[in-house]
Amino acid sequence: MKKVGFIGLGNMGLPMANNIIKAGIEVKAFDLSADAMRRAEELGMATKNHASEVTENIDALITMLPNDKAVENIYLKEDLIEQISQNTIVIESSTINPEVSIKVSKKATEMNISMLDAPVSGGVKGAESGTLTFIVGGDEADLQKAVPLLDIMGDKTFYAGQAGAGQIAKLCNNMLLAIHMCGTAETIAMGVNNGLDPAVLSEIMKNSSGGNWSLEKYNPYPGVMKGAPASNSYSGGFLNSLMLKDLNLAEELAAQSKSNTPMGRLAKELYEELNNQGLEGLDFSSIQQNYLDS
Ligand code: NAD
Repeated sequence: MKKVGFIGLGNMGLPMANNIIKAGIEVKAFDLSADAMRRAEELGMATKNHASEVTENIDALITMLPNDKAVENIYLKEDLIEQISQNTIVIESSTINPEVSIKVSKKATEMNISMLDAPVSGGVKGAESGTLTFIVGGDEADLQKAVPLLDIMGDKTFYAGQAGAGQIAKLCNNMLLAIHMCGTAETIAMGVNNGLDPAVLSEIMKNSSGGNWSLEKYNPYPGVMKGAPASNSYSGGFLNSLMLKDLNLAEELAAQSKSNTPMGRLAKELYEELNNQGLEGLDFSSIQQNYLDS
């Protein structure tokens, strides 16, 4: 890989593209925001005036966009897919509805273009340090072609299945993450309300059958875990707004597949409440605050 196109240079996209530049690969970049374009230029990327200019003479195109609408607009309404050469591999890394991924991927297949859905886990810190996890759907042979590039931006890649499977696996994971974070927060609060020390209770549960990722790596109770967002006024980390976005997508997926997800729905309602309180800019472990206030 010598030349990569990158569209969507926000909190995630810019550091991902920066790691590609640092690996000695030329990056042609486009974003609607003038500020993002200025920062990309400062990092040595060749900024372009339109998405279609990014696709000229590249080995791979990566998109890291905010939502379904942006992905559909770029690939289908603006017909970007028709301007991509058949030698270019397309890696769509935004978190979106799997149906949209499948729709775009079908169009790519019609045009003989290799396309992967490759949403990520690991957040802005993972994007900066090149330690993202890619969860990939599409043709497995195409994934093998993309691995050298994904390895620059991440340290783990999982193949989930055919087109859309990467998005489905990502939404399943994030729904479960929200559920065990809410469960962990409400359980610690109940222990504290009954006189237990949150750190002692967390240690007991972590090493017992209640153990889970939120307890092990991301304790939501302030002061229990050094370095966790809870011990830093819930700043940084994975924002409540993004968790709500993913839970809404998970709910759509549940409806489309007629899956019964009462816990996922409840977690979505709890995060809706938190976002409506104006706390959309805090880390998602701040769900703990709602249990402490009651
Ligand atoms: P962001 O809002 O910071 O960045 C999105 C960028 O896309 C913005 O700079 C915006 O100007 C640009 N953009 C929007 N429409 C465009 C268009 N038509 N053409 C060109 N540029 C366009 O979002 P982010 O935090 O970087 O997230 C990007 C994606 O990654 C989202 O789908 C998000 O759900 C997912 N994600 C984010 C995180 C995280 O912690 N931020 C973690 C995992 C996954």
